[in-house]
Order: sequence, then C-alpha cells, then structure tokens
Amino acid sequence: MKYIFVTGGVVSSLGKGLAAASIGTLLEHRGLSTLMQKFDPYLNVDPGTMSPYQHGEVYVLDDGAETDLDLGHYERFTSGVLSRMNNLTSGQVFDSVIKKERRGEYLGKTVQFIPHVTDEIKSRMHQVTLDNPKTDVLITEIGGTVGDMEGLLFIEALRQFALEVGKENVCFIHVTLLPYIRAAGEVKTKPTQQSVAKLRELGIQPDIIICRTEADLDEDNRKKIAMFCNVERKNVVAFRDVAHTIYECPLDLRRDKIDRLVVDRLGLGHTPSPALEDWERFVQRVIHPKNKVTIAVAGKYIELQDAYKSIYESLIHAGAHHDTKVHIVRVEAEAIEDHGAKAVIGDVDGILVPGGFGDRGTEGKILAAKYAREQKIPYFGICLGMQIATIEFARNVCGLKGANSTEFDKLTKNPVICLQEEQKGIEDMGATMRLGSCESILFTGTKAADLYDNVDRIHERHRHRYEFNSDYQERLQEAGLVISSVSAEDGLVEIIELPEHPFYIGAQFHPEFQSKPNHPHPLFSGFVAAALERSHQK
Ligand code: GLN
Repeated sequence: MKYIFVTGGVVSSLGKGLAAASIGTLLEHRGLSTLMQKFDPYLNVDPGTMSPYQHGEVYVLDDGAETDLDLGHYERFTSGVLSRMNNLTSGQVFDSVIKKERRGEYLGKTVQFIPHVTDEIKSRMHQVTLDNPKTDVLITEIGGTVGDMEGLLFIEALRQFALEVGKENVCFIHVTLLPYIRAAGEVKTKPTQQSVAKLRELGIQPDIIICRTEADLDEDNRKKIAMFCNVERKNVVAFRDVAHTIYECPLDLRRDKIDRLVVDRLGLGHTPSPALEDWERFVQRVIHPKNKVTIAVAGKYIELQDAYKSIYESLIHAGAHHDTKVHIVRVEAEAIEDHGAKAVIGDVDGILVPGGFGDRGTEGKILAAKYAREQKIPYFGICLGMQIATIEFARNVCGLKGANSTEFDKLTKNPVICLQEEQKGIEDMGATMRLGSCESILFTGTKAADLYDNVDRIHERHRHRYEFNSDYQERLQEAGLVISSVSAEDGLVEIIELPEHPFYIGAQFHPEFQSKPNHPHPLFSGFVAAALERSHQK
C-alpha cells in the first residue's frame, strides 16, 4: 500500500478535507483503488456527543460510527465505503492506551506519549493496511493546523510510520494559505514558508504543497515557495477558490496535475490520466441548470453552514440529476411558530424537515408539515422530520389530542413516537441510539417502492433514539397514513407516506448519507422531481 498524508497550515477552514477528497477522486479516476480516513486531534472519542455548533453535522457510517463531516466528503468524492476504523481521534487513542495500562499490557513500564501513544496511532495505520489488502493508496487527512500542540503526537507518529514503511511509499501533502493583501495588491508567501518550516522542525518534509489562493498563483510566488520550502517548483500546486460548487475542486487541482505528481512520487507506475468526463458533466449540470426550484429546510441550526451539510449536498445531487438548481431557503423553525407557515414558507416548491434532537422549534416544524400536507406542497421528513409528520398526522387527521413524541412531552396522552421498552432506563448517551445501516423491507405499490425501483430490501443509515409507536399503527393507517417500509429485523416503521399527496414522505433513517454526485438518493431525487413539477404548475 502507498500512503498520502494531508496536513494543514496557517489557518483552519482551508478546505483541507476537500483537497484530500479531490485527490481521492482524481486517483480513483486514474483507476487506482483508494481509501480515505481522518485523524482528529480532539479528545472526544467521536463527534457524536458534540453540538452542531461545535462541529457541524455528525456523519454516520454503515457500521454506525459517528464521525467527522469530512468523511461525508470522502464518501461523496470517492466510491469507498468507510468504517469506524477510518476516523481516529485523540480520545480513542488515549482511551485505548489507558485501558491497556489498566490491563497491565505494558508489563510494568512507565507509559509515555512516546513511544506508547505514538505506537497506538501507528498500530491503527498498520491495522487499516492489513484490513484493506486491495487498496492501492490510503489517504489520511490530519485534522487541525500544524503547530497546534494537540496535533503533535499524530505528526510524530506519521514521521515514524514513514520510516517504517519506507519513505518511497509515503507522500506528504501540506495544504496552506496564500493570503491576498488587498491594500498592497499582493499575495503573501511568508505564512506558508513558516508553516512548512514548522513541519520540517517536526521532521517532515512535505513532498507537495497545495496553496489555497483567492487570486492566482504566479510563477514568481511558485518559485519562491519552492525555494524556501525545499520542494520542486512543479510540486507547488494552486488550489483556487472555486466559483460555483465544491465539486469543481478535483477539476481545479487537476490543472496543476496533482494526481500525476502523486503517482510519480509514489512510483505507482503508468496509470492513465483521469477520465473525468462524468464528473465534468455533473459539474456542468450543477453550474448551468435549466430549471430552478425553491426548497425550504426548516431546522434548528439553520444559521450554521455545516449543520445539515449532507442534506444540502444531496439536494444538489438530485437537482443536477433533474437539470435543476435547488435554491435552498434555510428557515428557523421557531420563525414558523412566531409568524405562521404561510408567511415564512408560503411560496416554496418543497419543504424538508431534517433530523434533530430536543424540542426547540418542534411546534414550528409541525406547522410546516401541516402546511405542506394541506397545501399539497412536496414534503420530505428526515428522521425527526418523519416523526414530526407522524405527530402532525396523529393530531390533525386522527384527532389524537396532544399527540407527541415522548422526547418532547414525557407525559403525553398519545405517545405516537416513543422509546422502545428495552431502551428505557439506559442512561449512557449514545447507548440507546439506533446507529448505522439497517435492512428494511419495502412494500410494493407504495410511492417509496416506486422511487427505489421496486427493490424489496433497502439498507439505510440510522441515528436516532425514538421510534414510531406500533400501538398507534392501525389507527394512523385507517386514517390514510401508508407505511411503506419496516425494518427487516423488528418491524420498526422506516418510511411513511401519504398516497393522495404529490409527495409526502417521511424516512426514519438518514438517506443523505448515501447520496453521491452521479447517484442521487432515490428519495431526494423523487422529492426534487415533485418540487419541480409544482414549480411548473405555479
Ligand atoms: N430526536 C429524534 C430521535 O432521537 C430524531 C433524531 C434525528 O433526527 N437524528 O429519535
């Protein structure tokens, strides 16, 4: 196996994850098999317990791992399906070292940062290598910025690892910022020089430097960076601000032939230049769509760019598929409580209620679902959004007074959404969650089955604690709610829909974690198609 390590310098938010993912795209399009992973220096064992304000979305993998949102980019930009082995945090590393110490596995030695903690990190690298014998290139992004104290152990571990596997098998890529000083009209290279100097102090000489620039990277600056950072001039690569969509990133990095540089550096022999036509066509459809729809996303962390990242991306994928620009209106659910649905989302073509926890804004979301149902506006409820649709239907169609989820009202007379018996009394956060991929049965004749091309089984990723209460199933069905899918193992409700509505679907799982640029998720695709239909009728 060959290894690429992607570090970041100068500032955070440079698009390091996108740069790493784009390299994955390019290498895959050269016919190489790639696997991507992230090392995060923070002490949380995983981001599952972090607020979206801290961390943006929690991205869930098939095996139920709650991971950094960069893993979402990796899965969207490459064909790899990742596992919990592909997101390592300092929290996991220390947890494992301390457990070993308690079990006496260090045989009486003093347990130290070096070698014990660094060994732990390296052993993870070796394990991933063993687990993936068919992978040509393992791309690892190191979270944080070089120079941060908390990243030091990871950097040291990688330095040692490169020696162990042979330097010729390792390519270090450093992503840095070239700030543009407007008043001087100049791009500055000094921060890059200093950040690379820092990396070299830690024993790592980058092979390739990716320069994030607002302007272009001229030959003088390229030469300067090459000279002072001790790399060849061709290995200084520009990574410009893309104009329209993040899916342009691989195309931008391709301009300086980064994939070629990597292949040469790693001695990967002759691989054809990447066949990017499909990717380019997708990007063109994103940039120049024929149609436009407006979709309201009514949530709780709406002001945060990253809180519903995979949902926004999935809407883009579905939009491109229908040659449609999806204009997303982010709506604070509480605003609907204050001003009413008509005033806030009266003129949209579709309403999406995403996942969420806690009761802030739920009544606003219920109003949004009601408005969508009554006005026949396409509605797509994801996880909490499905539970909201169920509550709304129970209250306003079945007349079940005060129907609610016990998450929001423990004493509700009509708990249409509740915990399963066996979950009650478990207090450890996360322990009661249904997490990861789960097989469900699709019922023929439903709209959902139609959208999934009438397969009988689907596999979707979950992250929730509460469930549709089966005690109410019959009553809701009699009133017209259709259950289109249940989990194969225990018959839990997975998808609900309203047949008399142009598109009214709620999914207990998170379809947004399995949508890809050229393979939009069928439910997203159906939703955008219905919104498009509505926009044509207006
Ligand atoms: N809060 C709900 C639950 O725990 C929904 C979770 C979600 O939307 N991800 O079941």
